[in-house]
Amino acid sequence: MAFNILVVDDSATMRMVIKKTVEISGVPVGHFFEAAHGKEALEILDNNWIDVLLSDINMPVMNGIELLAEIKNDENLKRIPVIFITTVASDARMEEARRMGVAGYVTKPFQPEVIRGVLYKVLEDAYQQKVEVPTQSVAQEKDDDLDF
Ligand SMILES: [Mg+2]
Repeated sequence: MAFNILVVDDSATMRMVIKKTVEISGVPVGHFFEAAHGKEALEILDNNWIDVLLSDINMPVMNGIELLAEIKNDENLKRIPVIFITTVASDARMEEARRMGVAGYVTKPFQPEVIRGVLYKVLEDAYQQKVEVPTQSVAQEKDDDLDF
């Protein structure tokens, strides 16, 4: 299965960095969608099937916490796991996000392995299936070759 991923951040550069990080993580991606704030994200969610959302918190128009609230209050959207990628690390805000049902949390600046780890765990939890790590399938192909 390939996952449709929505990246929400008011920084176009950060959206690009997150996309690249997800690409190299090996998670099978169907389509990438991008939004600059929560309102834009909701429009995309209205018109497209999204499997997981990676969102900033501090954004103009509608921030990540408000976006998470909208998603969790919507019968059609609340199934979608939301991962926050943010510089905001205040305990109070993290606790609020957890209470609201955020699926994962990554602080900026991040190491690519951290996003990779959180994303795999969230996808496996949300979709109850082992997300295949590409290096394993490469190793498997190698084994098959040796059988000849
Ligand atoms: Mg921001």
